[in-house]
Amino acid sequence: MNKNQLGSTVQYLEYLKLSGIDDLFLRSREENNSELNLETLQRKYSQCKKCDLAENRIKFVYGEGNSHARLVFIGEAPGADENRSGKPFVGKAGQLLTRILQAIGLTREEVYITNVVKCRPPNNRDPHTTEIESCRPYLDEQLKLIRPDLIVLLGRVAAVSLLDMKLSLAKFRGTTYLYNNIPTIVTYHPSALLRNPVYKRPTWEDFKKIRREYFSDNEPEVIDGN
Ligand code: SF4
Repeated sequence: MNKNQLGSTVQYLEYLKLSGIDDLFLRSREENNSELNLETLQRKYSQCKKCDLAENRIKFVYGEGNSHARLVFIGEAPGADENRSGKPFVGKAGQLLTRILQAIGLTREEVYITNVVKCRPPNNRDPHTTEIESCRPYLDEQLKLIRPDLIVLLGRVAAVSLLDMKLSLAKFRGTTYLYNNIPTIVTYHPSALLRNPVYKRPTWEDFKKIRREYFSDNEPEVIDGN
């Protein structure tokens, strides 16, 4: 800031004070930059060839949503629709996720949605450990920029990949873990609900818990999954 700019800023602050405004709330430079950084990083990694999943990639699916989201959803990997569009959770499972979010009073624009790996595994197979480990720095970097209050892992593959515990989905549920020091809970992947409606009720219970934690300032009890 040069001398003239400093002078105008001081004048402006004096004017605000005379107008009875004593407090200013400013975003930090880091916060302002997180959207820009996510976009820059998305472009930077879009041609990544760190693992075999690059071979069949049509589009790199980095993630989408609010760069200051308090809530981040992480699935396992892009599917065919996502591979074509470059956006996460846009197929039938994604549409169901959108409806579930709406049911708890949230929109996709308020949250951030991504996957453990950013390129589609062939025939929708589970991503291999080496692929997950190759891609994990991208996810960790996203979380560092977004700094959410709560992570929701969608499905067992995402939970096993990030929490380093081999439990059934039913056993993962109901506990709050820590991933990169961020409270993290696990629920069913929406595609599981499409295959088997019996999972709808427990998923709805989990989303009611997500809503309670999202709209309250209570600190959840956590288990460190790092
Ligand atoms: S899955 Fe991740 S690490 Fe593998 S090629 Fe795609 S972006 Fe790179």
